[in-house]
Amino acid sequence: MPDAHLDAHTRLICLLGDPVEHSLSPLIHNAALRAAGVNAVYLALSVAPEQLGAAVGGLRALGALGANVTIPHKQSVIPYLDGLTPRAEAIGAVNTIVQEAGGRLRGDNTDAAGFLHALEGAADLRSAPAIVLGSGGAARAVVYALLTALRPESLTIAARSPGKAEALAADFAVFDPEGTLRVISLAEAGPVLRSSRLVINATPLGMAPHTDATVWAEPSDFGVEHTVYDLVYAGAETRLLREAAGRGARTIGGTAMLVGQAAASFEQWTGTPMPLHAVHSALRAHLDA
Ligand code: NAP
Repeated sequence: MPDAHLDAHTRLICLLGDPVEHSLSPLIHNAALRAAGVNAVYLALSVAPEQLGAAVGGLRALGALGANVTIPHKQSVIPYLDGLTPRAEAIGAVNTIVQEAGGRLRGDNTDAAGFLHALEGAADLRSAPAIVLGSGGAARAVVYALLTALRPESLTIAARSPGKAEALAADFAVFDPEGTLRVISLAEAGPVLRSSRLVINATPLGMAPHTDATVWAEPSDFGVEHTVYDLVYAGAETRLLREAAGRGARTIGGTAMLVGQAAASFEQWTGTPMPLHAVHSALRAHLDA
């Protein structure tokens, strides 16, 4: 445990959210801090919405290296910060705060980088048609990542509330000069899903304890031409990935994005690359337990 290394020089990194009890971020970052020999500790702190401004002020007062921000504060934290990176500004949400010289707090969003991290080896997916199931906060980071990095020849958002998805699409029109982005309802997504190469689940369906739920209950729609990327992270494979793999699809689980976004935050706080081996073995031990 990190406490064996705590001393008068130990620096603070926090997670600000509500609730935070189920977060894997303390496990990931404390394993990484130990392995990298960085004298800092990562604490998950439950912060009520009305205390968010005071908590962010506390980062300055305590000289924290920075923080992660999670539900429900990813958007409401923005007014308390001194500036945003272009990608946080574009996505409209902050998951990482970095304290710069002079106590300036910069908000960033590393979810898009985390999402792409797991696709680094998949050069065949550059410009391939893609479909995103869901239109919440994670979908925003995914759509931004796809439009700015992989540039799919067609990109469809399939949502149970197409009105919300239309708003998302309007926000990202500036990154879509070719007009590739369109919105449909989940109910009518079958033909588009079948003709897509990359299928992303950005809904919570499949999360514990409802591990038998799936956003796509027609496994016969999947085939060897598909890469199915489930943002849900689970110890075992989600039903979506299990069924897609059963039809020959390539699958990517949410842990890859979780570690990818953590690595992109860690490096900004510590100036050190995240020791991924240590993180993966800590996660394996935890998720398999
Ligand atoms: P969110 O903002 O609450 O959005 C959830 C989306 O899923 C919304 O579009 C919602 O539709 C849709 N949805 C919820 N229940 C549904 C259902 N029964 N049928 C169809 N659509 C449904 O959540 P989020 O922050 O985007 O997170 C989504 C998932 O991604 C979560 O499981 C989260 O843990 C995961 N995630 C993973 C990572 C990672 O690093 N791996 C990072 C971020 C998020 P409505 O708009 O109609 O409610």
